[in-house]
Amino acid sequence: VAKKKDGNKAIFYDEKISIEKNKKLRIEARLRKAIKNKQIEVYYQPKIDAKKDKMTGVEALLRWTDDELGFVPPDKFIAVAEETGLINPLWEIAMKNACSKVTKWNEGRVEPLSLAVNFSAKQFQDPCYLVRQVREILADCGLAPEHFEIEITESTLLFNSKETIRALKGLQEYGISISIDDFGTGYSSLSYLKTLPINSLKIDRSFIQDIQEDHSNSEIAETVIHLARGLRLHVIAEGVEEEYQKEFLMKNDCYHMQGYLFSKPVCAEELERLLG
Ligand code: C2E
Ligand code: MG
Ligand code: MG
Ligand code: MG
Repeated sequence: VAKKKDGNKAIFYDEKISIEKNKKLRIEARLRKAIKNKQIEVYYQPKIDAKKDKMTGVEALLRWTDDELGFVPPDKFIAVAEETGLINPLWEIAMKNACSKVTKWNEGRVEPLSLAVNFSAKQFQDPCYLVRQVREILADCGLAPEHFEIEITESTLLFNSKETIRALKGLQEYGISISIDDFGTGYSSLSYLKTLPINSLKIDRSFIQDIQEDHSNSEIAETVIHLARGLRLHVIAEGVEEEYQKEFLMKNDCYHMQGYLFSKPVCAEELERLLG
């Protein structure tokens, strides 16, 4: 009987894997179609200077609603894209759309908006190609590199680290800013902060939540703010949803923020309304 039970378990496990695999294959097939048919959209989430009460820039975030699968969250389809070689075409959609929109929005603005785009670790495998492509798209759209920012996570720094550093150095020399997204959630050592080409730390929203009740969260947020100041890095908090979180951050001299308190990610037309 015991043997039979184990056998069943094994089959069950295999089935589970193949269901997962089929799901991924389905997402991949639909994603290919969506890219071809231009069904992927770019949304924009404002970045705010809370001291000046002004929008300083936007982050581009991809959105996909499929006819069959419905709304697929970016975390999900980006993971599939990374595994299937679709990350570059997706990234191009984000880059080209966002760069041309922000260039347009900046016409006649006294303080131009900066644009942040999320880059995936996979893209750093070919640093020369990446640097060339970024420069080309910025030049084509007419967006100054000084108004462009790359968001990467700590895991990107661990992955292909030599190539990644080379690419980041090239991009930074060109005038682009490099920002560490979801800072504090990775496993990398802090020593990279003094050697790597980094301009900015983005405090992960998990540390901003319950900042009032959870003493360790507020302690971590404060520590990151102090660390950034000591290293002369820019610091921004993500996931600010409540007034008390904003007040806490301002009291700790962190004025740059992003979150639902100010605005959710919105489509281009909606962002134009916010600017207008
Ligand atoms: P991320 O870059 O850390 O983006 C922040 C995520 O938090 C976004 O989720 C945003 O909608 C959400 N968010 C912003 N403010 C708040 C808030 O106040 N409260 C809460 N609860 N959430 C907030 P989204 O758009 O679902 O994106 C998830 C992740 O997918 C992004 O995390 C990023 O890692 C990835 N992603 C999105 N677009 C791209 C892209 O074009 N390329 C790459 N490589 N990754 C992307
Ligand atoms: Mg980001
Ligand atoms: Mg983040
Ligand atoms: Mg994230």
